[in-house]
Amino acid sequence: MVEKYDYIAIGGGSGGIASINRAGMHGAKGLLIEGNVIGGTCVNVGCVPKKIMWHGAQMMDEMNLYAPDYGIDIPTKKLNFSKLVKNRETFIERLHGSYKSGLDSNNVDLLNGYAKFLDNQTVEVNGKRYTADHILIATGGKPEFPAIPGAEYGIDSDGFFELTELPERVAIVGAGYIAVELAGVLHGLGSDTHLFVRQHAPLRNFDSIIVEGLLETIEREGAKLHTYATPKKVEENENGSLTLHLEDGTTHETDTIIWAIGREPNTQNLNLSLTDVKVNEGGYIRVDEFQNTTAKGIYAVGDVTGRIELTPVAIAAGRQLSERLFNHKPLAHLDFDNVPTVVFSHPPIGTVGMTEEQAIDKFGVAQIKTYETRFTAMHSSITKNRQKTYMKLVCCGPEEKVVGLHGMGAGMDEMLQGFAVAIKMGATKADFDATVAIHPTGAEEFVTMK
Ligand code: FAD
Ligand code: NAD
Repeated sequence: MVEKYDYIAIGGGSGGIASINRAGMHGAKGLLIEGNVIGGTCVNVGCVPKKIMWHGAQMMDEMNLYAPDYGIDIPTKKLNFSKLVKNRETFIERLHGSYKSGLDSNNVDLLNGYAKFLDNQTVEVNGKRYTADHILIATGGKPEFPAIPGAEYGIDSDGFFELTELPERVAIVGAGYIAVELAGVLHGLGSDTHLFVRQHAPLRNFDSIIVEGLLETIEREGAKLHTYATPKKVEENENGSLTLHLEDGTTHETDTIIWAIGREPNTQNLNLSLTDVKVNEGGYIRVDEFQNTTAKGIYAVGDVTGRIELTPVAIAAGRQLSERLFNHKPLAHLDFDNVPTVVFSHPPIGTVGMTEEQAIDKFGVAQIKTYETRFTAMHSSITKNRQKTYMKLVCCGPEEKVVGLHGMGAGMDEMLQGFAVAIKMGATKADFDATVAIHPTGAEEFVTMK
């Protein structure tokens, strides 16, 4: 027997949950299929536990780098890592409960199991068949492991969240968001942390002012950075430690290696060959601007499409899709321009729109004018550790439309959202200038740049 629904979402992560709930709000009878635990990457092994750990590391920074010069004496600073992990996981348990009640209130059935396609309109889960006119693939992705000997001695970001003890020494390999964030967290919490990147800097595709800020900050108060360092193999030593061998012949001994070298889409076990869904080179599902795949009635959102792998993007694309399918809005779709994003480094990095380099490529150097500032953040003005803030506006054309905003500094994570609204609305440098500053803040520098 085949059970029939209006809408089936495969994958109970950010995109799948958001889309099926929105469909339910519009009266569709939905089925959400999740092979693992509800919430997906973000809730269980991504944004949420990462942000908790980031807060922990920030608190350690406050105590180590700033408290003494504020005259605050903290005689015993001892991290109970397993307590932090336990409290984090209890919070995530609570989130599972609230996701489940959200689904219940939208009349969505939740099914635990891995789905695979039998044809364009039918999936099989745990030996039973389910059909719908509309099926969403929101199966996300998973961490990649390098193809080098001994890679299995390392762990990935999922493994990081399984740690119950803080490693004394850790080596992180990679130069993207995850490498930078985990290096910052582990260094802040007290591990002897080494970050290995293959080229001159981490986050090398970010705006040059961010790369400059990151390099200076890591040098002053961060993990030990190893540049032009390409891993070749890993060996386990008799005492249980690990030796990371690099292409240049150097070695590094550590206790834990974390691979943070990118992610790959979860498409392998879906039986896509029984459908008309096509994937592109890295296995990502091909979609158009309306999230339609190449198969009629099958859609995809989120990391499995490989386009801006962020939770709010998966959520927004999933909701827009349900507005289109179930709320008579035939043109509803997500606009992928000017998506703001934060890297939770120490201090955080925020960016929206084009880098200076991208803007010059697109509009030509004569059209682009930039405004930059670098200053000591006020909270560190009386402390030995002087933490700097870096900011840049990228403006285009005679009207100086702000097409990019980049910053690294205290509070950058929370200040970005409002500026992203302004930029989405087409703000110009004159609009920024006409906005009265809030003093004394870091944010005011964005509206007072000369
Ligand atoms: P996912 O959330 O990955 O959900 C996919 C779900 O599908 C999973 O639960 C999986 O079990 C399930 N699934 C897979 N195959 C099947 C199948 N065949 N049948 C049934 N179920 C299946 N983004 C941010 O915006 N901010 C952050 O701070 C941030 N931090 C991150 C930190 C880390 C360490 C990582 C790894 C990611 C982070 N991200 C962050 C990215 C964010 O987590 C993802 O962009 C987001 O989770 C993507 O949502 P999704 O719905 O596409 O997929
Ligand atoms: P990434 O693609 O951002 O970075 C992977 C890095 O690993 C790259 O710099 C690459 O040069 C390097 N690399 C690749 N192969 C390597 C190898 N063999 N040896 C050494 N280095 C190698 O991937 P990620 O850090 O896994 O993050 C994936 C995505 O998840 C991000 O692009 C982002 O969209 C999302 N994310 C977002 C946040 C956030 O919003 N704060 C946090 C974490 C992840």
